[in-house]
This record gives sequence, structure tokens and C-alpha cells, in this order.
Amino acid sequence: MTIRPTSPIEFSSELSGLRDRYLTITKPLTSEFLSQLDQLCPSSTKLEDRIEHSRDWWPLAMHWSLNAMTPRRPDVVCRPVTTKQVSNVIALCAKNSVPVTVSGGRSGVCGAAIPLFAGVVIDTTSLTGVVQVDEVSGLVEVLPGTFGPDLENVLRDKYGLSVGHFPQSFDISTVGGWIGSRGAGQFSPRYG
Ligand SMILES: Cc1cc2nc3c(=O)[nH]c(=O)nc-3n(C[C@H](O)[C@H](O)[C@H](O)COP(=O)(O)OP(=O)(O)OC[C@H]3O[C@@H](n4cnc5c(N)ncnc54)[C@H](O)[C@@H]3O)c2cc1C
Repeated sequence: MTIRPTSPIEFSSELSGLRDRYLTITKPLTSEFLSQLDQLCPSSTKLEDRIEHSRDWWPLAMHWSLNAMTPRRPDVVCRPVTTKQVSNVIALCAKNSVPVTVSGGRSGVCGAAIPLFAGVVIDTTSLTGVVQVDEVSGLVEVLPGTFGPDLENVLRDKYGLSVGHFPQSFDISTVGGWIGSRGAGQFSPRYG
């Protein structure tokens, strides 16, 4: 399972004028908070990670990308690998009143994954894999950062089943994103 999010468009290499489009007022994160977060799960404050997690496939923001403008950069990106880590991160953020935004494939076209109030982004794409399958009921337990092809391949190859949900963005979106955005799997390239 190696699929990673796909950037909507290249980001301007001219970073000297880098700015956020949305200037929401937020409380700066303390170094103590950042170090506590770091102990809970892998996290990054690298500029390139913060730029990528500030945007999705919202067409308007693609124009901004070409002009070194991000919608809103998060302060830090977390990449939990277990659900326990997710709940620990949420508990820490709740205790410190830090905003949290979840992101999957970041293929949404309306900016839903933009961390409008900065803070922490929880990137789910290290939470991958099919946990269990009930072949009688067809009920599948799968981790939220699993991309469409990875889920379909396991269901097809190991169980002779199909996910039966084929959004046009199948290759670049995750199970968590499908559910979070109530995606429609109408296979739009074929049926419109
Ligand atoms: C070329 C293209 C074609 C598309 N075709 C379709 C289509 O046919 N049908 C369709 O419905 N959509 C389509 N989309 C839109 C998009 O792909 C879907 O909305 C998809 O479900 C988003 O999944 P994602 O993993 O990229 O989620 P993201 O964009 O990362 O997130 C979408 C929303 O879900 C939330 N979220 C993500 N993961 C979780 C989680 N684990 N828990 C809680 N909240 C979460 C995010 O916070 C955000 O609000 C298309 C997009 C593109 C770029």
C-alpha cells in the first residue's frame, strides 16, 4: 500500500512572497505543545509539508498556488500510524484548544480539507490497510487513509469482492475522505 496524495498543481517555486489567503486569527502554538505532539506520533513543521496540507483540488486555490499563495497553512502536520495515536493527538489538541483538521487524499474540490484556523492537520494516509472482512455480510473494516485502488485490490484478490464505489477520483482519494464528504461513486467518467 504505497499510494500517496496527489498534488493538484505545482506550487510556485518563488517563495519569497509566500502568504496565506485566509488571515484567520489564531493562537501561536507553544514549543511545549509541539514537543508533546512530537512524542505522540510523527509530526512535521517543514514548510513544504505545511504548504501541501494547506490545499486540496479546489480549482480557485490552484490559481493561488501558481502565485505562491496558500489558502491557510497549518502550524504542524501529524501522521499517526495507529488509532490510539489519533485519539491521543485529539485529546492533546482539545486540552490546549488547538484547532484540528483531518486530511486524506486532499482530492476534495471545495476546500474542505483546508485548515482554516491553522493548528494541527491529522494526515490519515499512514493509517492504511484492510483490517477484516466479513465475507457473508460484505462488511469491511478498513483504515481511513486507504486509497481506492489499495482497497479494491485486496477485496478483489483475497475475497473475490469489489468495493462498488468508483468516484472519478478513485485513484487519489481515501476511504475516510469518501465517508467524510459523503462522496458519490457514480463512476462519472462513464455515466456523467
Ligand atoms: C478529478 C476529480 C474527480 C472527482 N470525482 C468525484 C466523484 O466522482 N464523486 C465524488 O463524490 N467526488 C469526486 N471528487 C471529489 C473528491 O475526490 C471526493 O470528495 C473524495 O471523497 C475526497 O476524498 P479524500 O480522501 O481526497 O478527502 P480529503 O479531500 O482529504 O477530505 C475531504 C473532507 O473529508 C474530511 N476527512 C477526510 N478523511 C477523514 C477522516 N478519516 N475522518 C473524518 N473526516 C475526514 C476532510 O477533513 C475534508 O473535510 C473528485 C475530485 C477530483 C479532483
